[in-house]
Amino acid sequence: MMLTKEKQKTALRLLKESYPDAKPALHFSSPFELLVATMLSAQCTDKQVNKVTDVLFKKYNTAEAFSQIDYETLEPFIHSCGFFRMKGHNILAMSRILTEKYGGEVPQTREELTALPGVGRKTANVVLSNAFGIPAIAVDTHVFRVSNRIGLAEANDVEKTEQQLMENIPEEDWSAAHHWLIYHGRLVCAAQKPKCEECTLREVCDFAVHR
Ligand code: SF4
Repeated sequence: MMLTKEKQKTALRLLKESYPDAKPALHFSSPFELLVATMLSAQCTDKQVNKVTDVLFKKYNTAEAFSQIDYETLEPFIHSCGFFRMKGHNILAMSRILTEKYGGEVPQTREELTALPGVGRKTANVVLSNAFGIPAIAVDTHVFRVSNRIGLAEANDVEKTEQQLMENIPEEDWSAAHHWLIYHGRLVCAAQKPKCEECTLREVCDFAVHR
């Protein structure tokens, strides 16, 4: 069930207090690096992606550089990530488009980003909010599970969850709330065994109240 507005405010305040320093887990030093790292992160832990990109970005870290290499050159760097073949081909195709159409820069609209190979709405939102400071809520597996458990959303799919979170969370907190929910999902509200007894949200959380 969706929480009342008052309880939503309380839940958001508690999350903010719990994770005041929440920030992206992926290593990056440019919008392009974040785009590549996020594309690699599907079905792969952030820790593993960081291991890969810490080496990869020392050698190639611009759209121009990636557009000049072939798949066989890229594969040894990324083969420890799940779905590396598909990701590798998408990253190279995406880099060529950025080089040819955008002067090597990452575009700053969701429409342009999601038109790139291998870039879905979640990846676009991660880049918009973390690289460009444009308010967006990327709904990954943690954000989806935790927000629907708490009652900040009540939806069966990612798009509706994103829409409801944008309605229920003040715009200035969208990007931070994405990180609060990820931290909470990793540290407390795990998929199989949520630690409700020690959770600061247990008084307001719809899942804890009704289980
Ligand atoms: S009370 Fe339980 S279900 Fe609710 S947010 Fe905390 S850990 Fe998750």
